[in-house]
Amino acid sequence: MNGDDHGSIIVITGPMFSGKSTELRRILKRYEIAHKDFVLFKPAKDNRYSDTEVVTHDGLSQPATVVPVDESCRSIILNASKNVSIVGFDEVQFWEKSADLPGLARELALQDKTVYATLLNLDFTGKPFQSAGDLLNHANRVISLTAVCRKCGSDNAVYSQRIDESGSPVLTGETIKVGGEGEYSPRCRKCFLDPSTLLLKRDGPAKATAGRDPIIVPPGMPKERVPSI
Ligand SMILES: [Zn+2]
Repeated sequence: MNGDDHGSIIVITGPMFSGKSTELRRILKRYEIAHKDFVLFKPAKDNRYSDTEVVTHDGLSQPATVVPVDESCRSIILNASKNVSIVGFDEVQFWEKSADLPGLARELALQDKTVYATLLNLDFTGKPFQSAGDLLNHANRVISLTAVCRKCGSDNAVYSQRIDESGSPVLTGETIKVGGEGEYSPRCRKCFLDPSTLLLKRDGPAKATAGRDPIIVPPGMPKERVPSI
């Protein structure tokens, strides 16, 4: 919280359980003490619009405005941000690419607002979220957090391993899946089991799909128009 952060984009990034939302809450709390108005947006999982709270993994909460994850969020966000100088976004990776959150963040920063965003650094396959686009590249500051590796205990986890009930790594599935303790396990580089590598070992090169669901090509759609994930 600096006096010269006006017009800045500040991204708080890291794996699951690295304290991203807690850090954002801490920053916003300081604005609250300083009597500065802010608004915090949270992505809706079911596209409903309501006032609720961002609850961090340690159970702390922060009032937030829940907005749709598609392009219809734009007018709601711009309207609700009109009279504040600080705008926060929680879990930017959940917004769809069509919502263009990075573009919206730049627009708000151009209005001289301070924009904060928390971003899960990598998906469960160890790849960046396409939906977050170039947000990190346009950030004025990046607060990079690590978590405690649940396997070796080092304070250096940067990966979010998706695990099943038995604790084994999940190899395929949707990139976006809301989950908490028990479904994700922060891992350091040495302890992270890359789903692409495991798939390759299990199925051989022909079947391995880099941990992601295969893209279904709609009939008649030219292959080059298939969106990349
Ligand atoms: Zn480790």
